Amino acid sequence: MSGIFGAYSAVKKTVLEEVYLGLYALQHRGQESAGISWIQDGSVASKRGLGLLHNAIDQKRLADGEAYNAIGHVRYVPLESSRLQNVLPISANYARGPIAIAHDGLITNLAELTRQLEQRGAIFQSSTNSEAILHMMAQKSHMQPIDALVDALRRIEGSYALAVLLENSLVAARDPYGFKPLVLGEREGTYYVASESCALDIVGATLLRDVEPGEIVVVNGKGVKSLRVRPEEKCRRLMHCSFEYVYTARPDSIIDGRSVYEARKEMGRRLARKSPCPGADLVAGMPDSGTIAAIGYAQASKTPFEMAVVRNRYVGRTFIQPTQKVRELGVKIKLNPIEALFKDKKAAIVDDSIVRGTTAERIVSMIRSCGAEEVHLRIASPPVLHPCRYGIDTRKENTLAAVRMTLDELCRKVGADSLDYLSEEDLTAAVGLPEEKLCTACFSGKYLEDEEK
Ligand code: AMP
Ligand code: SF4
Repeated sequence: MSGIFGAYSAVKKTVLEEVYLGLYALQHRGQESAGISWIQDGSVASKRGLGLLHNAIDQKRLADGEAYNAIGHVRYVPLESSRLQNVLPISANYARGPIAIAHDGLITNLAELTRQLEQRGAIFQSSTNSEAILHMMAQKSHMQPIDALVDALRRIEGSYALAVLLENSLVAARDPYGFKPLVLGEREGTYYVASESCALDIVGATLLRDVEPGEIVVVNGKGVKSLRVRPEEKCRRLMHCSFEYVYTARPDSIIDGRSVYEARKEMGRRLARKSPCPGADLVAGMPDSGTIAAIGYAQASKTPFEMAVVRNRYVGRTFIQPTQKVRELGVKIKLNPIEALFKDKKAAIVDDSIVRGTTAERIVSMIRSCGAEEVHLRIASPPVLHPCRYGIDTRKENTLAAVRMTLDELCRKVGADSLDYLSEEDLTAAVGLPEEKLCTACFSGKYLEDEEK
């Protein structure tokens, strides 16, 4: 997963610091690297670095810079790919002018495209999806950049939300299935594109709308224009990622018209109805990912909600840490239960998901060592049984706890008195989008490719 942000000021206001701030609001989508590209004197200029945004890029120097068209990217990448060459946006000055690309998603026919491009002489410098788009455009240098981009997007399969910087325009594109979120905002003549609406809030922009699946939005001095990757009738099958509502997105974002906060709370309410915990003294959420569902669970079950597990805010999300060792230590460093709240109590603990089971096991054992009488674990999403093929890192199938163990085995492994998950039906109903518009493949195994066969 990644976060992308772009800004184009039609009134020629400098936007560099706003792009930095937009990325700051999207830091939860990736902490391995950050980059910003802008147009300066007809060429692309970039600042890129590894780690968190503030480590990667000097805000002060950006604030002093001048550019009215810029894009940025924060990225989660596995360790082996976190080389500086792979830090996005990827940029170049090609035959048709400057270009930079920031991408969230996964091109599923990348190997095939790369092979074709290399046969025609392309030399790849990175292992990014975005570089393939760049080469596809470069090999169509007889076309205008925007036409070459549309042509490239027609050849891509998989998921993408893109921000593309061209000499005089900012382009935003969303794949025809709408896997990845992408919104359009505006404030006083400056237009913004962002992975999530929380990044518009930080720059004081109004959320205009979601970029539609299969839509290419072009912003330039002439205003905002909308093109299509494919004829509209081919975009009827939508696959909005349900995991965005479960975990990935920030709760203050609105994605495809649905508040992430509301969706999470409803997941908690439905979980309480499906799998109550009678006689519990308290409900606590695993911060931050389980907190909102826990509030919903507590409200629906009329049980007191307590902030009984405290999170060290200065530690990144455990899953994001690249090695298993760091990950295991990470849970301890990150979460601390308050002993006085758990001692001799029956507790219902709510988290958003179980992937490998590491977090659940650690937290249950920590709560037990506080003297809790009973610990009941409730998960506000269905079991993760399949890997994501569309760009969310959910790990290999054989590492997924729900694949390796039955419910009872997993319950014993994590050391809980009981364990239960939300159902797929409840997940869909909580998100509030029609079933046929929602991807649930990592839970259900219903992949798009299988359905389209
Ligand atoms: P695990 O410890 O492997 O079971 O991971 C579960 C925890 O990681 C949960 O508390 C989630 O909040 C979080 N999580 C779930 N999916 C992801 C993901 N794709 N990326 C990062 N963190 C995740
Ligand atoms: Fe999202 Fe899961 Fe679908 Fe991947 S498989 S796009 S994580 S719902």
